[in-house]
Amino acid sequence: MNSPARPSRLVVSALALGLLLVTPRLLAQAPGPVTTPEKFFGFQMGADRKMARWDRMVAYYQQLARESGRVKVVDMGPSTEGNPFLLVVISSPANLAKLDRLRQVNLRISDPRGLAEAEVKKLVAEGKAVVCQSMSLHATEIGGTQMAAELAFDLLSRQDEETLRILDNVVFLMVPCFNPDGENIVHDWYQKTLGTEFEGSGPPVLYQKYTGHDNNRDAFMTNMVESRYMAKILFTDWIPQAYVDHHHMGSYGARIYVPPYADPVRPMADPLIWREHSWYGAHIAYKEEEAGLSGVLNMAQYSGWGHFGFHWITPFHNIAGMLTESASAKIATPMFILPDQLQGGARNLPAYEEQTTFPNPWPGGWWRLRDIVDRQKVSAWATLDLAARNKETVLWNAYLKAKRQTERGAAGKPAAYVIPAGQHDPLTATKLVAKLLVQGVEIRTAEKPFVGQNGVSYSAGAFLVPMAQPKMGLVRYLLGRTFYPDNTYTRDRDGTPIRPYDMATDTMAEFMGVRVDPVDQVPQGEFRKFDAVRSVGKVEKGVAGYVIDGRENDAFKAVNLLLDKGLALRRADKAAPGVNPGDFIVSAGAPEAALSSVATDIGVDFKALAAEPKSGTHGVKRLRVGMYQRYWGGNMDEGWTRFLLEQFAFPYTTLMDADIKKGGLETRFDVIILPDDSTAMITGERPPAGQGGRGGPSPDSYPLEYRSGIGADGVAALKAFAQKGGTIVALGGASTFAIERFGLPVRNVVAGRPAKEFFCPGSTLHAKFDTTNPLAYGMPAEGLVVFMGGSLAFEIQPTDFNERYQIIASYPERDLLQSGWLIGEEFLAKKAAMVSAKLGDGRVVLVGHRTQHRAQTHGTFKLLFNALLGRN
Ligand SMILES: [Zn+2]
Repeated sequence: MNSPARPSRLVVSALALGLLLVTPRLLAQAPGPVTTPEKFFGFQMGADRKMARWDRMVAYYQQLARESGRVKVVDMGPSTEGNPFLLVVISSPANLAKLDRLRQVNLRISDPRGLAEAEVKKLVAEGKAVVCQSMSLHATEIGGTQMAAELAFDLLSRQDEETLRILDNVVFLMVPCFNPDGENIVHDWYQKTLGTEFEGSGPPVLYQKYTGHDNNRDAFMTNMVESRYMAKILFTDWIPQAYVDHHHMGSYGARIYVPPYADPVRPMADPLIWREHSWYGAHIAYKEEEAGLSGVLNMAQYSGWGHFGFHWITPFHNIAGMLTESASAKIATPMFILPDQLQGGARNLPAYEEQTTFPNPWPGGWWRLRDIVDRQKVSAWATLDLAARNKETVLWNAYLKAKRQTERGAAGKPAAYVIPAGQHDPLTATKLVAKLLVQGVEIRTAEKPFVGQNGVSYSAGAFLVPMAQPKMGLVRYLLGRTFYPDNTYTRDRDGTPIRPYDMATDTMAEFMGVRVDPVDQVPQGEFRKFDAVRSVGKVEKGVAGYVIDGRENDAFKAVNLLLDKGLALRRADKAAPGVNPGDFIVSAGAPEAALSSVATDIGVDFKALAAEPKSGTHGVKRLRVGMYQRYWGGNMDEGWTRFLLEQFAFPYTTLMDADIKKGGLETRFDVIILPDDSTAMITGERPPAGQGGRGGPSPDSYPLEYRSGIGADGVAALKAFAQKGGTIVALGGASTFAIERFGLPVRNVVAGRPAKEFFCPGSTLHAKFDTTNPLAYGMPAEGLVVFMGGSLAFEIQPTDFNERYQIIASYPERDLLQSGWLIGEEFLAKKAAMVSAKLGDGRVVLVGHRTQHRAQTHGTFKLLFNALLGRN
């Protein structure tokens, strides 16, 4: 009789030989021959002056998928410019065969509400550690994408115990290129300049169509399709336990930074997160030293409170979100560095000398792409190795983090945030809710009216975001007032504030101008889970036609689409029955089908207009809009503004230097936008190499045709354009250019102030808007603006013609700060944020705050949009 519990004699002898446990597994996983990167690409990854293009990389991953059972290649969809965005899943063939089950197990552990501990333990035993790593988000930082092909090959071809342990215990979600378009742009530029004196320079244009380097500032707003793919992988489909984003940094410090972050950290993540960063970081750094790789730095340079980019937002998704930063070479060209050029001076690295977190300084010499690939590959491998060796701990801690954050949210204050239905701009509030859903935040909607804190009543359709959910920390920062720390971690020894990595707050609700009420108790009422936003507007015909609410940003999109269809529109300047200043009026004769299609597509309502206002309206005229674009790596503010105009269907023309210099602009344009920039970048009057200037590469690092600048001719042409009736909209720093070069009697009151006196890095400030001025139509009387380092505030200098200047937005007398960090509010108090200045027959609109910042500040988009519509 065969007893299944008793091994047969044959098996016992095999066991005695020590073969049984190893051989069948090796046979099961024995891979066929896998093509090496060298063979496929014709060079070793990271070889001097060699860079693989993204289309070849895609072909390589597809080939690996045909050759190996250890990989699954998922095409997430097209990038902004139509290149495939890949997710490469690497694990054992057995795991890949049940991948969706493993994903479900992982999601359940990541939100364990309602599970008994015994059930969690079963899931932990069944599940696999999930680790995500992404490469070369910043496209000139090519090490990650080049390294990834070799990392994949190693994982698919190696047969040693360490590799098999990783494959058995980890589902590795590799995003081999976060920015496929940029990879091609950088590759093509590198090939074009190879062998010339410009070899190794960055491309002269943005390396993502709209965002360039800002693409990692998009993780919480997810404006870009690449961000949405990444959000789907990280925030809703998988929720991995660890995430590493591989970057490059400057060339003259440590060779590679690895986790953990330095202080300060952003509070409210589960404490295990910060311990996990140290845990992974120690293993990574240890493995780098074991491999004899020098120049490894950790717990320094990058602080735990950064912008809400992917590696800094993930801790609030209960994911150990981490970063590596390698010293840059010149794209794929080696760079020589003299020993005394190596410097400390970064956070927690005061001098370029040995210290516990930097025990093996690199001595200088040639620095090659291969050196970067070596270090990044060890860091990527070590992350997988640690997760594989500690699979059950990693999964159990994922459960603990989610459970404890939910409990913390339930016990703390506020207990929830309410997003009321009656908003100044309801469609924008809906967009906020949609963006929260992309983050995987749980939202409820009220079926019936309810009463909240202090007797405040809310109507049906209000949204409720409870803090008793695993992502409570994320909810807290996107919706709640935030103060950046001001302490010894954030100030130099002499008291000078240290610039935060980017913004000092990421309060999405404030940026979007959406009212969100924190409440200390979860309101009682009838709520249901809300999981999809679908706004369809209503079309109600009145005797006198229709009204579109001018307070809605999407009213402008509706107007643009209707102008495209040749419809005539009017805009109200005065209140009348059923009409507010700034509202748009469509005549009764307009084809209803056209209105219905707009209402369906974008959600705006066309309300019935009973009687046409007798006076106080004007015809809406489409204006010819031009926007200046430069080289020198491109201007991110220009890219974002271009994106924003396209989102709201504003037609525009990109103006390069020659278009401006040739003059006669008034015959071709009505409005010219100058995106945020320095005067030197706009004019092209760049300081010589090595003599600084505000950012940007030295003038001689680009071929002549890319050394852009409008020059004196361009300045004269712009000034003539305004004097002959044109409107120039000068955004942010371009206001300084306009003030100086057009001789406007306007002073930037914060210019040149030492940081100890005045400092406001990426904060939301209270402002007042003159809603009687057409430039502020549709704005609330009071609201919030985003102010960044480099933003301006204005004072009009007394002249005999003060009537030529209008203040559109200004700061109140006190209590300016809503979120972020503000030192020296007295310098801003009562000063102007936005000014319109007459110049001849035209005008210059100076916008000191960031009114369309990264297409994130929905609350102030209208201050730009209003300048882009004319009157008949
Ligand atoms: Zn980077």
